[in-house]
Amino acid sequence: MSEFISPVIVALDASTASEAYVFADRLSPSLCRLKVGKELFTAAGPMVVEGLQQRGFDVFLDLKFHDIPNTVGAACRVAAALGVWMVDVHCSGGPAMLDAARNAMDTVSRPPLLVGITLLTSLQSGDLQQIGIEGPINDAVLRLALLAHQHGLDGVVCSAAEALLLRSALPHSFQLVTPGIRPAGAAPDDQARVVTPAQAMRLGSNYLVIGRPITQSIDPVLTLQHILDSLHS
Ligand code: C5P
Repeated sequence: MSEFISPVIVALDASTASEAYVFADRLSPSLCRLKVGKELFTAAGPMVVEGLQQRGFDVFLDLKFHDIPNTVGAACRVAAALGVWMVDVHCSGGPAMLDAARNAMDTVSRPPLLVGITLLTSLQSGDLQQIGIEGPINDAVLRLALLAHQHGLDGVVCSAAEALLLRSALPHSFQLVTPGIRPAGAAPDDQARVVTPAQAMRLGSNYLVIGRPITQSIDPVLTLQHILDSLHS
């Protein structure tokens, strides 16, 4: 894995391996990491992860595992053996599932970062009640992030809107990964609440997940460079 400091993870939301490689070949591993999600992985499997790693990219395998501890542990062991840089599981799978995921990561010499999904940012307060979660969204996110930390996860995926709260309650080393990022002036697409890369970093994010503003840009490397420059101005 490379030793660079770009916080940007590009969401490679493609439906075939060849489409993913076309995107990847327009980017540079010196400027970003890549996220492979359920669509691409279901279509193209571990070979696409290996293909991207061979091109020099660190890969966040975003499969959001959520199952009984034994099954999640087994899936995490396979993910860790693939040599990916980051893996995620749902915090709501509970303590034993989180322990199983942590133990699985530690079976390889360079474990991927293990992060937990707190609440999907697509959920609204009314939805929470319907699935039996009482109280405000922030309370549930904080509770799940504390659980993740207690069980040895390296961080969580959350909305940048929650980053400040989590940053104040958790150690600095706990990693916050935030999607819903849009450079100033970019179209929000279907994201309801967006923040700029610089705002997200100020709120305490460690990693910014950005998809369409980069993958659909005419010049993805230039767009990425502008985003990285905006973090220092
Ligand atoms: O294109 P865009 O920047 O909206 O892509 C964001 C990526 O982050 C997508 O892969 C999306 O599935 C993912 N994501 C998200 N919100 C979450 C979790 C993941 O947008 N809460």
